[in-house]
Amino acid sequence: MSAEIIDGKAFAANIRAEVARDCAAFREKTGIQPGLAVILVGNDPASEVYVRNKGIQAKEVGFASLEYKLPADTSQEALLAKVAALNADPKVHGILVQLPLPKHLDADAVLNTITPDKDVDGFHPVNVGRLWTGNPVSIPCTPLGCSLILRDRLGDLAGKRAIVIGRSNIVGKPMAALLLAANATVTIAHSRTADLAARCREADIVIAAVGKPELVRGDWLKPGATVLDVGINRIADGDKTRLVGDVHFASAAEVASAITPVPGGIGPMTIACLLRNTLACAKALHALHD
Ligand code: NAD
Repeated sequence: MSAEIIDGKAFAANIRAEVARDCAAFREKTGIQPGLAVILVGNDPASEVYVRNKGIQAKEVGFASLEYKLPADTSQEALLAKVAALNADPKVHGILVQLPLPKHLDADAVLNTITPDKDVDGFHPVNVGRLWTGNPVSIPCTPLGCSLILRDRLGDLAGKRAIVIGRSNIVGKPMAALLLAANATVTIAHSRTADLAARCREADIVIAAVGKPELVRGDWLKPGATVLDVGINRIADGDKTRLVGDVHFASAAEVASAITPVPGGIGPMTIACLLRNTLACAKALHALHD
């Protein structure tokens, strides 16, 4: 079998087009332009690229994009004060603090200070609770992207067996919550899971979010499985480096029915879903204050 390669770029472009249409209709109806505020502390090059792309794409769909670049030695108090000011700013509907933060800052305290109604990453404990109790507003962007792809490709997930490899708060756990809400039977695997290959072979849906290059091999898969590879790993290739996922693409594509590539699979979905969450927050805030 040679798997269909899922085009995450095309998928993400469709989501952005949908957000742009909805944003125009929302502005027309309410006169409100959704505003996305992104705080970047320090000058980590990868984070700078992410923040720049978020700003460009936010403007493209019709949002106001507000970027705050703070120096690497910003104090916890100053950062919390910035977040508090954005919480109170009526022009801002979504707040994102780019991670990772410099080591002297307490990321959990910062994320917990973002008002849940503007928490477009969906990381605040209130939004985590809303997700697990089946009433979400903001859903963490990467798992949301995965679940939109699954819904499009597979339709009803009821009764399907899914494995999520990785149990982080930003990918693995929310992914499992979404699959459970869609009535899949979910295994959450992690670094201490025994016989991971055998657990994988039981699954119709495999989501790999580990951060270990090419961990999941073709012979770990059930024939016809759908494989979403969240991992982004930079590996040496001669004098250069290249990106690979957590799945060994060539062998997995021989066994799976569909697979996301790295790059060009789940990655582009993440910012598209951030824009979707920002519009959802703007609509919910408007409904609250209307
Ligand atoms: P993390 O380090 O927080 O979590 C990794 C998880 O993998 C842990 O729960 C750990 O228990 C598990 N794990 C580690 N070794 C394992 C093993 N040998 N077998 C089974 N499980 C194992 O990572 P994260 O933030 O969840 O990110 C995971 C990967 O996804 C990374 O490569 C990251 O770069 C990527 N990522 C991509 C996007 C995107 O937009 N596509 C977004 C977020 C993260």
